[in-house]
Amino acid sequence: MNRRQRLLVLSGDNAKSLSSRFPRRRPWKFLAGLGLVGFGVVMAAKFRGQMKFISSSGSSTTDWPFVIPIGEKVASRKRKYPIRGVILHHTVTSSPQTTYRVFLQRGVSTHFEIAPDGKVWKYLEPETEVAFHTGQAGFNDRFIGVDLTGPPFTEEQIKVLPKFLEYLSKRYGFRLAIYPGWGYNPELASAPDKIEGVFGHAHVQSNKIDPSEGGNVPWFWNKVVASVQGVGGSLAIA
Ligand SMILES: [Zn+2]
Repeated sequence: MNRRQRLLVLSGDNAKSLSSRFPRRRPWKFLAGLGLVGFGVVMAAKFRGQMKFISSSGSSTTDWPFVIPIGEKVASRKRKYPIRGVILHHTVTSSPQTTYRVFLQRGVSTHFEIAPDGKVWKYLEPETEVAFHTGQAGFNDRFIGVDLTGPPFTEEQIKVLPKFLEYLSKRYGFRLAIYPGWGYNPELASAPDKIEGVFGHAHVQSNKIDPSEGGNVPWFWNKVVASVQGVGGSLAIA
């Protein structure tokens, strides 16, 4: 059981290229990669007990540069149904380090968390893993969980969010359609297998107010809608 909080920052694309290139064609690249990973492990050991970034690789244009916590994995189960979109949440914590601890303690999880500094933490792989981010299995089974650390939210988070949603819609094949309502809608709540796009937790679960600041879901959703339209999203339920 390793609850020590050590971090390795890897681009998913770099991780892929390491395995695909080894060992025949470009062994020096693999060795260079090994060196980087080795460095990461050494640095992780050095900083054990404190959350530290080991390295950051944002060179890839095909995948997001993620912060990947290494150590005990958060709760999940195997994916059986196709991905239909994203449910947005807030964490009520002030840092992903705290969120991670809470996830491990409570057996809940999400796929991604957008930290106050705008970095995106990846806990689980949506393609193969279901996260426990809502109280309804139907939504967990079909929707990617994206959490924002907070509230309050930072400008960096709000700036990253639309770009990240655009990335997710392309990467996982759902329409970048933003639900246009402001509050809970029982019709949505009963149709996780029919709706597609980006929703807030508050839209699909009656006792939830996330994501919001001061419980004001419309205020937050206005911001999301405005920013996602900026990257070509549409205002519709697919
Ligand atoms: Zn939530």
